[in-house]
Amino acid sequence: MPRKPTTPAFGKKQTSGEKVNMKCPFCTNPGSKVVDKRETPDLLMTRRRRECLKCKKRYTTFERVEEIGALVVKKDGTREPFSRGKVLKGIVLACEKRPISREKIEQAVQEIESELRRKNKAEIPSADIGKMVMEKLVKLDKVAYIRFASVCREFKGLGSFEREIKAIGGVKE
Ligand SMILES: [Zn+2]
Repeated sequence: MPRKPTTPAFGKKQTSGEKVNMKCPFCTNPGSKVVDKRETPDLLMTRRRRECLKCKKRYTTFERVEEIGALVVKKDGTREPFSRGKVLKGIVLACEKRPISREKIEQAVQEIESELRRKNKAEIPSADIGKMVMEKLVKLDKVAYIRFASVCREFKGLGSFEREIKAIGGVKE
């Protein structure tokens, strides 16, 4: 059986990065083990540091992260494809000038995404995603949580805002 030609994974849609058949750039051996894996800062690509099983040299591959196929249903009833970039942006905005590492923020996005993958729904109300983000933020930073919640829930008057702060046990700067 003729083997399919191997193409660089860069910019190509992959279902699973682990299945990618990539050759070592030094000795063309296809076997490698992943020694380190992380997402690029925009969370659109997975960067894998690989070690060739034959010559033991290390090289890096970039593989596009596949977005989950769900549609987000917004308040006005319109739908748009789920975007991890949007979730990331929302969290980054809420965490602005707060002592929260980029790593923690990316981890929160990853967790939300894998939860949505597990649920495997065709449509997700935007409010559900907002709630998931709030659940992450309340554990990370209370100021960031309040910022996000005030946008998301549109607090009606000071009373509801105070109740919210009381509910999370106050805010300490
Ligand atoms: Zn090699």
